[in-house]
Amino acid sequence: MEGGRYEQGQKRCPQCELFVKWEGLWCPCCGRLLRSKPRAKKLKHGLRRVK
Ligand SMILES: [Zn+2]
Repeated sequence: MEGGRYEQGQKRCPQCELFVKWEGLWCPCCGRLLRSKPRAKKLKHGLRRVK
């Protein structure tokens, strides 16, 4: 399976570069904000607005 980690309640720590099963928003080991959603690849084109 691919990309199911977030759905399983796991979050990714950008600092430790690993997935942790943690209910809090902050990494229990380094204290950084965890990512709880996968990156939206599909929005790459649509969000590119230039004023
Ligand atoms: Zn961490």
